[in-house]
Amino acid sequence: MTITSEQVLAELKRIKGPDLEGNIVDLGLVSGVSIRDGKVAFAITVPAARAADLDGLREAAQTVVEKMPGVVSVAAVLTADAAGRSTPGAGARVAASGAHTHSHAPASRAPAKPKVARMTGVKHLLAVASGKGGVGKSTTAVNLALGLQAIGLRAGILDADIYGPSQPRLLGLTGRPEMTPEGKLAPMMAYGIACMSMGFMIDEETPIVWRGPMVVQALQQMLHDVAWAQHGDLDVLVIDMPPGTGDVQLTMAQQTPLSGAVIVSTPQDLALIDARKGLNMFRKVEVPVLGIVENMSYFVCPKCGEQADIFGHGGAAREAERLKLPLLGSIPLDMEVRIRSDTGQPITVTLPDSVHAGLYRDLAAKTWAELQAAAGHAVPPPQLTIAPANDALAVTFDDGASYTLPAEMLRVMSPSAEVQGHSADQRVTVGGKRKVKIVSLDPIGNYAVKITFDDRHNTGLFTWDYLRQLGREQSQRWAGYLSELQKKGLSRD
Ligand code: ADP
Repeated sequence: MTITSEQVLAELKRIKGPDLEGNIVDLGLVSGVSIRDGKVAFAITVPAARAADLDGLREAAQTVVEKMPGVVSVAAVLTADAAGRSTPGAGARVAASGAHTHSHAPASRAPAKPKVARMTGVKHLLAVASGKGGVGKSTTAVNLALGLQAIGLRAGILDADIYGPSQPRLLGLTGRPEMTPEGKLAPMMAYGIACMSMGFMIDEETPIVWRGPMVVQALQQMLHDVAWAQHGDLDVLVIDMPPGTGDVQLTMAQQTPLSGAVIVSTPQDLALIDARKGLNMFRKVEVPVLGIVENMSYFVCPKCGEQADIFGHGGAAREAERLKLPLLGSIPLDMEVRIRSDTGQPITVTLPDSVHAGLYRDLAAKTWAELQAAAGHAVPPPQLTIAPANDALAVTFDDGASYTLPAEMLRVMSPSAEVQGHSADQRVTVGGKRKVKIVSLDPIGNYAVKITFDDRHNTGLFTWDYLRQLGREQSQRWAGYLSELQKKGLSRD
């Protein structure tokens, strides 16, 4: 059934105006009605100072439209009169009003502090932000999410970039999200990660001036009305934020229960103030900034392999130190990264043995360690010892927990294989070589270790968390593996 904007307006006439006089349509308060595939969006103009009190009006309007046959979802937002009719100069700031309560708004007019609803089914929300566009924020966000998956975590990505939603392209996603039987939107899946994009929620033809106020509402919907945990609880939902540090970004940061934020910058912008603006924005809303990612930091000549520090060397590390923030990673400028990003084949999953994929996994492990630390769950490095016959790894944690993990178990249960859903059945064939030996350990910072096996496999990055998990579940996992081998008629010899 096709719904028209006339039908939506007719329904909205049932809603009375802010002072219970007339109705919101005849009062000229409804605008921007857009309808696509049963998804309805519209805005209601109210005086800026009363926005917080009038959420009930918005809810009522949303409810009547939701009840219309053929309506799939409704995004109703409050906005101020752009011409400033009711509140001069308020512009589109209603959506960002909470952000201004600390500054100049008189107490009597200050809107209530926004309610930040906790997410169910998602352990950590992680914002990836940048001071300006074009620094590779979206590319970093998607590869970070895939890197988190590669180190054994369940990850998703929420593309909140209103100016140019790019995750569908980066992940090669087309089509529309479906509804779950519970009436939520099902995230789209690509390479094992769940994705939802602002691009699915906001019509490309909606002018950007409109998107600003609508975006905060749409973001809430993308957080709470999407079945993120459809395939199991997410450890991290990466949010690809809109570039910049304006009102919209500030409000999004404030109204979202973020565990932390990562700032992406190029070396030359790091030296300028853009990255610092991002930092200050999150500090203002008390979101811990976990660190900086320096993107396009150097160039490796594909022909001669020489590293060219186009923008100077060591600047990012110095700047990070000055800002008292960890440098989470330095990602070089690379043709392959660009080509794969632009064709929906992110390098972390499509070329897992590449240097870049390794860098993104390292970035993910470091970010995860910082995220844990910010949440008060830092895991100090365990003591690692390779057994004399190189066939096991002894892991002893600070709290006394100690495990001896067979090399073969580490090899066949490498974190990436685990999360990418290799069943026990697949694992016995994936880990082609049984009775592997550990050749070397390369600690990555103080948060993970890279294990190289004698079949040359070394793409698994084992975080302390993951090693502990393997240790705790060792007996049932090993038993499951052995029974799988037996079922397949395979022997370990
Ligand atoms: P933003 O989200 O900051 O606007 P994008 O992630 O869309 O930036 O990246 C802008 C462009 O730069 C894209 O074409 C992308 O493929 C490219 N790009 C990003 N990071 C790299 C990199 N490390 N090497 C090469 N190209 C990159």
